Amino acid sequence: MGRLQMTVGYFNPVEKLDTSPRVSDEVKYTTCYMCACRCGIKVHMLDGNIRYIEGNKNHPINKGALCAKGAAGIMNHYSPARLTKPLKRVGDRGKGEFQEIEWEEALSLASNWLTDIRSTNPRKLAFFTGRDQSEAFTGWWATQFGTPNYAAHGGFCSVNMATAGFYTIGGSFWEFGEPDWPLSKYFLLFGVAEDHNSNPIKAGLSKLKANGAKFVSVNPIKTGYSAIADEWLGIRPGTDGIFVLSLVHELLKADRIDLDYIVRYTNLPWLVIQDPGNPDDGLFARGEGGEPLCWDGAKDEIASALLADITPSLSGDRRLPDGRTAIPAFELMARRYLDEAYSPEAAARETNIPAETIRRIAAELAEIAFEQEIEIDQPWTDWAGRHHATTKGRPVAMHAMRGISAHSNGFHTCRAIHLLQILLGSIDCPGGFRYKPPFPKTAPPPQKPTGKAGQVASDTPMSGPPLGFPAGPEDLLVDADGTPRRIDKAFSWEAPMAAHGMMHMVVSNAFNRDPYPIDLLFLYMANMSWNSSMNTTGTMEMLTEKDQSTGEYRIPKVLYSDAFFSEMVAYADLVLPDTTYLERWDCISILDRPICSADGPADSIRHPVIEPDRDVRPFQDVLLDLGARVGLPGLINEDGTTKYPGGYADYLTNHEHAPGIGMLAGWRGKQGEFDLTGPPNPKQLDRYVENGGFWSHEFSPSQRYYKHANRDYLDFAASVGFIGKADQIILQPYCEPLQRFRLAALGHGPIQPPECDRHRVETYFDPLPLWYPPFEGEAVEVGEFPMHALTQRPMAMYHSWGSQNAWLRQIHGTNPLYMNRRTGKRLEIEERDWVWVTSHHGRIKAQVKFMEGVNLDTVWTWNAIGKRSGAWNLDPKAPESQTGFLLNHVISELLPAQADGYRYSNSDPVTGQAAWYDLKVRVEKCALEEGEAEKGLSEPRFDILTPPKGLPERPPILRYGRVFSNMDDGEQIE
Ligand code: SF4
Repeated sequence: MGRLQMTVGYFNPVEKLDTSPRVSDEVKYTTCYMCACRCGIKVHMLDGNIRYIEGNKNHPINKGALCAKGAAGIMNHYSPARLTKPLKRVGDRGKGEFQEIEWEEALSLASNWLTDIRSTNPRKLAFFTGRDQSEAFTGWWATQFGTPNYAAHGGFCSVNMATAGFYTIGGSFWEFGEPDWPLSKYFLLFGVAEDHNSNPIKAGLSKLKANGAKFVSVNPIKTGYSAIADEWLGIRPGTDGIFVLSLVHELLKADRIDLDYIVRYTNLPWLVIQDPGNPDDGLFARGEGGEPLCWDGAKDEIASALLADITPSLSGDRRLPDGRTAIPAFELMARRYLDEAYSPEAAARETNIPAETIRRIAAELAEIAFEQEIEIDQPWTDWAGRHHATTKGRPVAMHAMRGISAHSNGFHTCRAIHLLQILLGSIDCPGGFRYKPPFPKTAPPPQKPTGKAGQVASDTPMSGPPLGFPAGPEDLLVDADGTPRRIDKAFSWEAPMAAHGMMHMVVSNAFNRDPYPIDLLFLYMANMSWNSSMNTTGTMEMLTEKDQSTGEYRIPKVLYSDAFFSEMVAYADLVLPDTTYLERWDCISILDRPICSADGPADSIRHPVIEPDRDVRPFQDVLLDLGARVGLPGLINEDGTTKYPGGYADYLTNHEHAPGIGMLAGWRGKQGEFDLTGPPNPKQLDRYVENGGFWSHEFSPSQRYYKHANRDYLDFAASVGFIGKADQIILQPYCEPLQRFRLAALGHGPIQPPECDRHRVETYFDPLPLWYPPFEGEAVEVGEFPMHALTQRPMAMYHSWGSQNAWLRQIHGTNPLYMNRRTGKRLEIEERDWVWVTSHHGRIKAQVKFMEGVNLDTVWTWNAIGKRSGAWNLDPKAPESQTGFLLNHVISELLPAQADGYRYSNSDPVTGQAAWYDLKVRVEKCALEEGEAEKGLSEPRFDILTPPKGLPERPPILRYGRVFSNMDDGEQIE
């Protein structure tokens, strides 16, 4: 018996504590939107108010887990930064002077603008969305409108990572694939944003740790996931590619690769034509039917590489029937990476990782892959009908995102990682990386971008979607002279494979009228005048500058929708206030960025758990309304009436992308009798709500692995429309589309780059992964800008939304500039000193904090914590705007000028991904005036933004929940 219980008058406090008090009178199930992970949540309601948010134990993504952001959704919902009514600009743009107007006036004004543009030149609408989750819908809307100038924020985020995957393995990391967490024994993680996919990665890492797997993190900064890694490799930013290719060098040299996997599942045995100077050089040798050829070693003859019963050779010069020479792609690959240029010593010089460490990591990978192979007692049948009695796997998994993606060499770096996975035989096997449906698809996917000269016409929808995957110069959106056809120059010679557009170039190009002027910039949830652009100060100027000759703004109209008073609001002419995620219908669709797991497809919804208490409308409803007013064919009936009078819920239920395929895959058919395909079900959304807001389908055990070559899976995928045909999906480490672009640059074919772009295309469109130093570092003087500067996304914040959240601000209220203590000593900088951070583009002032876990040549800060004073209805003296700062001010959207004066965008030359992690700076202690340090002001500083009319007076302290307490009769939020 414990001492307390023996003492007269004491009680055991545990007995008096009710750990699960009843806090609500109703519980509603929906999907979190505090980050992109989309966990299932239970929203506890009391007297019609949100009382508490809890994780949904049954939900496939989070299985009950809830992170700090998810729980703090209450404070986003009740935030005093919520917009309350449509706003029309009355003062100068950027001043934030607005008049409240009624919705009818707002919608008729917006629809008049849109109607004028559509009837004259639809390209003059640039429609870009931020981190919204309805891209299948917004992209479809843009197609109906007829503008190719559409994209979401992927070009700013990690599109080169995704594109590399789609062109190489027919799938990618992040939302489209995951490590086999339960079975993996070795996990290599390349810089991942900590706020993305956060619950699944945390749960996965704890599984790995519990199983005794080794976790190696490659990241210049040791925070978040890296902080719990078994081994942290503090790599120099932008050098991951050479690190990975030196691992490839070591594995090839030691002959520690999975030849059986390579022969069965990849294009490395295919013969590549060696015909220098001619238009077929570097392309695959093909038979009469277009089938790729290989050398059948068993028969000693040329054969179709698509046949199952052959023994393809991986090396040797072969003579083709027409006399040309060809060699297997494998030999080209091996020759390249066996070169000393990829040795651990060469990589060590670039990466800051010792050569012996690289050798050891390569040996560890090989040991786990080949000595610790796992075998599951699960028979399966491959694409050729060959029966496999068990499922074998190489338990090495990898994952990557930003980090590697926000560099100008990120596309090739990510392809290098996929090559490493392929050589180890660890794609979609037990213990390896696993595809999430609807992937894998053919590499690259068949969808092409639309927007060529003949594909855009007034009052006409486009024949296809604005975004896609070019397979050669013929798929580019350029004029005969190479002039880009999109405002952001995506799918032009500057960025041929810009699969997600180039949001970071829209304002700059529209301002410069390059390649043409636009009339209307339509943005949704894209905080372009702050953290969603590079050259933030310049962006604000471009949004406000007027044409001297006309007195009109150079970007004539800006239409903006957001739920909150972000920095962008002041730069809009018309603001359409959105709801919070708890007040509207939403859909996380398999057509979009799904919540599937590797074991089966899944999708989910959000539904209004509470009615808006302001004059706001869900953006998706507004977009449908605008589309109907403009008369978009997909949105009106033949008699001109609106097709979806019930708004987005109606669209989700009844719209079909293709016959039988709608936004939601669950409970299709009149009675809800079909999964994945089937006619619309009028009660479909009810079924989702009854099921906790999601639907999921589990693959049969025989469908789960080797999906790219698994007969049962491929048949299933074709039957439900994930892929066009049930053919094997062949992994493409040798990327022929890249070679097609390169050949054009070498002067072959009818569509060739302008003279000025030839060298660039020839260099970077290499069909095998390559590494080159990030562009900005090469363009500036190393001595002048010796340090790398990065941002990290914190787990507790998501984009700029977090800093308005009273609970989350207690975790990250400001952002210092982090620096290695040893670097500080070298630069004679003390902790908390104020420093100038100067790039070739500009300078900012920030306060230093030391840490040990950061690369010696790197400084960094948390992303998007720094705010403009007054924005988000924060106190103008809030720490976010006083000591907090935004690194974007010193990042240029353009590279320094070349010898001919031209400035390319600061982007990956293949995919157009914004290369904001290439930033090079110098850091110098500020010479402060007396007393200035105490003032503690970061720079640059801007006029304080005044919240528009209608926003509540912001109290000095935000409290939540006192209304539910017996002690209080006050406001819910005060
Ligand atoms: S990980 Fe993201 S989606 Fe999941 S609870 Fe946290 S904020 Fe919400």
